[in-house]
Amino acid sequence: MIELEGVTKKYGSFVAIDNITLKVERGELFGFLGPNGAGKTTTIKMIAGLLQPTAGKIRVAGYDLQTHPEEAKRRLGLIPDRPFLYEKLTADEFLAFIGGLWELPERVVAERTGMLLELFELLDWRSELIESFSHGMRQKLILAGALLHEPEVIVVDEPMVGLDPKSIRLVKDIFRKLCAEGKTVFMSTHTLSIAEETCTRVAIIQDGRIRAVGTLEELRRLSKTSRTHLESIFLELTAGEKMKKIDLWNSAGSRDQKHLNRYFPGG
Ligand code: ATP
Repeated sequence: MIELEGVTKKYGSFVAIDNITLKVERGELFGFLGPNGAGKTTTIKMIAGLLQPTAGKIRVAGYDLQTHPEEAKRRLGLIPDRPFLYEKLTADEFLAFIGGLWELPERVVAERTGMLLELFELLDWRSELIESFSHGMRQKLILAGALLHEPEVIVVDEPMVGLDPKSIRLVKDIFRKLCAEGKTVFMSTHTLSIAEETCTRVAIIQDGRIRAVGTLEELRRLSKTSRTHLESIFLELTAGEKMKKIDLWNSAGSRDQKHLNRYFPGG
């Protein structure tokens, strides 16, 4: 459903994404994890066709984004990390606007709007201006908008940020249901417990490279220790020079600190 083949993205001479190859199958709820600045948003923007890779191929629902961008994008719903909403529209008007962009018949838009607003528990606010919505309500409206054209692939950048526990549960259940229906969800998240609970497979990205990919069970086996929680595995797999430095620092006596300073200036 989503295929990345040797994908690289450079910003000037800086390599943000370094030769990533990844395949996400239909029906998967796939977690994309990594520390700040690892390259999650850049990857998501490339999958959504908002950024061009410097090299490599991306296919969405079997369509090459470069050669068949419209076919690929029509099958994809994007929920960005910083979504934009027209504050002066009501929830109903916003979804009608999105439906218009996808050229959906009005009757279909009206039907799906009712269904989605009910699903996201926004029905009572359908005629209110978005400017009066809380962060969580806005987030849910964005999700509803991304599902309006019934995409086969849903790509979500940090979907749970700012949601209360009840809404998190709701969104998790909706994602699970979508995957059970044969859709594919690709979700970046910092919330490891959510990935642990919901994702069928996860990939861990760091410095633009995939460090590990697999089921939680497979990652546990990959991890050198007998750690069981995704958080420990994540921290172990992404522990770079800084972590090593802290370990060295902790084990070094004060007389060695001057010596360490030479190797790790600024510490
Ligand atoms: P976070 O979890 O903090 O949101 P991320 O994993 O989504 O981070 P990206 O936003 O993809 O990371 O950024 C990856 C790297 O690319 C970072 O080093 C970032 O500074 C750099 N980067 C992102 N966008 C640009 C840009 N437009 N120009 C230059 N560098 C960029």
